[in-house]
Amino acid sequence: MIRPIDPVSLVRPEFRRMSAYHLDLNPCRHKLDQNEVPWDLPRRIKLAVTDALVDADWARYPDFHGDDLRRDLGRLHNWPWEGILVGNGSNELLASALEALVAPGTEVIGAEPSFSLYRMFVMRSGGVPRFLMRPDLRRPALMMDEIEAEVERNPRRPVLLATPNNPTGDALPPEWVAALLERLEGPLLLDNAYGEFCRFDYRPLLARYPHLILFRTFSKAWSLAGLRLGYLMARPALVSELIKVKLPYNLGHAAALAGRVVLAEEEEARRRIRVILARRPQWARMLTEEGFEVFPSEANFHLVRCESADKARQVRDGLAARGIRVRDVGHYAGLANCLRISVGSGMALRETHLALEEIREGVPAAETRLNTQPLRARPHPPGPPLPRERGETASDDEVEQEETTFDRELPSPVPGEGPGVRASRVERSTHETTIRLALSLDGGPRSIDVPNGFFGHMLEALATHGGLGLELEAEGDTGVDLHHTVEDVGIALGEALASALGDRRGIVRFAHAYAPLDEALARAVVDLSGRGSFAWNAPREVAAGWVTADFPLTLVADFFQAFADRGRLTLHLDVLSARNGHHAAEAAFKAAALAIRAAVAVRAGSDEVPSTKGTLSV
Ligand code: PMP
Repeated sequence: MIRPIDPVSLVRPEFRRMSAYHLDLNPCRHKLDQNEVPWDLPRRIKLAVTDALVDADWARYPDFHGDDLRRDLGRLHNWPWEGILVGNGSNELLASALEALVAPGTEVIGAEPSFSLYRMFVMRSGGVPRFLMRPDLRRPALMMDEIEAEVERNPRRPVLLATPNNPTGDALPPEWVAALLERLEGPLLLDNAYGEFCRFDYRPLLARYPHLILFRTFSKAWSLAGLRLGYLMARPALVSELIKVKLPYNLGHAAALAGRVVLAEEEEARRRIRVILARRPQWARMLTEEGFEVFPSEANFHLVRCESADKARQVRDGLAARGIRVRDVGHYAGLANCLRISVGSGMALRETHLALEEIREGVPAAETRLNTQPLRARPHPPGPPLPRERGETASDDEVEQEETTFDRELPSPVPGEGPGVRASRVERSTHETTIRLALSLDGGPRSIDVPNGFFGHMLEALATHGGLGLELEAEGDTGVDLHHTVEDVGIALGEALASALGDRRGIVRFAHAYAPLDEALARAVVDLSGRGSFAWNAPREVAAGWVTADFPLTLVADFFQAFADRGRLTLHLDVLSARNGHHAAEAAFKAAALAIRAAVAVRAGSDEVPSTKGTLSV
C-alpha cells in the first residue's frame, strides 16, 4: 500500500514556488548564452592537467580546502593565502558564505536585475532577499543612493552585489564601493565573476575593509567553466570562520589541479582576455548598427534591448534557427525586450551579423546563407562568404591573427596525440574551399588528399622532411583556378602551426637549411617570431614558369606567403639556382621543411620563450 504523502509537499514552500535553473545545452554553432569565452584551452594545457590527474591518488580524499591552489592564488593576487577560499564554482562559495553570514530571518540587501541565482542563495541561508529594483539601468548611481539609504536605516544587514553586474554588464567604480563600505557594518559580498574584463580593480579595498568579501571564478577568463572552480578573497580571520561552513573536500582533484595548471599558464588567459576586450567594441558596434539599444559593458557580454517583445522573440528564434544561441532575459525585472549576448569569436561576430541581417530582411531560416552546423559536428559544408566588420583596421586584423592561435571550437583528438605532443586541428570553410587538417609537430600519421597531384607531392615532402604528422583533406574550386586551394591550405597549415606552437615556449625559434635537387638549390631561413613575413626569390629563368601544366612556380610563393602569414613566422625562401621548375619547387619545399623542423624543435632543458621581449605571442 503506497503511503498517501505528496513528496513535493515536503519541500519548503518558498522553494516550491521557484522555477528550476534551466538552459538548452544542445550543441549549437555559436553558444552566446552563458558568458563563457569561446575558446577551449590548448590541448597542451589540458594534457598537463590530465597527466597530473593520472598521477594523483583517486582512492584518497583530496586536500580539505585545496591549500596548494589557495597558495597559488595568493601569489597571483599578492594576498595572504589564508584569506582565500576555493570552491566548486563561485556559486558554491556565494551560497556557503551567505549561510555563514546571514542569521535566519535577516534581510540581505541587493539590487535587481542581477544574477538570477542570488535569490535562491539567500533563501537557502534562511535570509530574506531585499533586492531593490534599479530605477534606471543607465544610472547606477541612483541604485547606489537607494542602497546607501537602506544601509543608513540599518547598517548591519549584509549586502550582495555583482560588479560587473550580470546581466546588465555595468560596473561600480571602486570609490562608490568604498563609500558603501564606510557606512556598512555588515558584510559586503561583492561578486566579481567578470572582474578580468573590467577596468576597475576592487582588490585594493580588501586591505582597508575587513567586511569585504570578493568572489571570483575560473569559469570565464580562465576557460574552466566545465571543471567548476571559483574562489573568494577576504581577511584571513574571516576566511577561517567561513571555512567551517564550507563542506570539506568541496574541490575534487580534477578542478584543483586544473586551477593550478591554468594559473601557471597565466599568459594564455591574458591573451584570451585581450582578444575579448578587443572584440567587445566590435560586437557593440555591430549590434548598434543592427538597431539594438546596446548597454555599455565591463564584462564579456552585452545586454541589448529590442524595440518590442515581438522583435526580441523574432531575433532570439531567428538566431537559434541559424545555430546561434543568445539568452532571452526579457522576463527579468526591468529588462522587457532584452537579450544578453556573450562576446564571441570573430567568426561568431561575422555570422551573427549576417544572421541579424537576414532576420531583418525577412529571409526565412530555411533559406539562410549561413552554415548552421554546430562547429563540433562534421562534415561541414562550404559556407557563404562572411562579411567583414565595417571599418576593420589593422588592429582588428591583429585580433583575428591572435584568435587563430587559440584552439578552434573543435577540440577533437589529433591522431598521434599523447603527453607532450604539440598538435592542433583546423577546419576552414569558405565559398571557395573546404579544408580539414590535423597537424602534429612531433610526427604522426600522414595522409594528404588535395585536388592536384603535384601539390600533394609537395605537401608530402613538407610533412616528411619537416617531421610532421599531417592529415589533410582539401576541396576547392579548382575549376576556377588552383590558386584558392593552394593559398587556403597554406592558411590552414599556418593556423595549425601557430596553434600547435602555443606560446612558443622552449622552442629553438631560428633555423635555416639548404636543400638541393640535382642542379637546383634552395635555402630557407626561418624565425618563429610571432610575426608573419615572407620573402621569396627564384632565378628569372624559372620564376614565372610552369612546374606542371596547371601549377606555376608562383604558387609555391603564394603557398608559403599564406603559411608564414598565418603561422606568424618569418620565412626567407630563396631558390638559389635551378634550370627546371619542378626541381626549383621541390627544393624550396624541402628546404622550408628542414628549416621548420629545426626551428620548432624543443630546446633541451629550457622552457623559456626565446625572446628578449619575453613573449612571441603579442
Ligand atoms: N556570479 C555571476 C554574476 C555570474 O554571472 C556567474 C555565472 N554566470 C557566477 C557567479 C557563477 O560562476 P561559477 O561558474 O564560478 O559558479
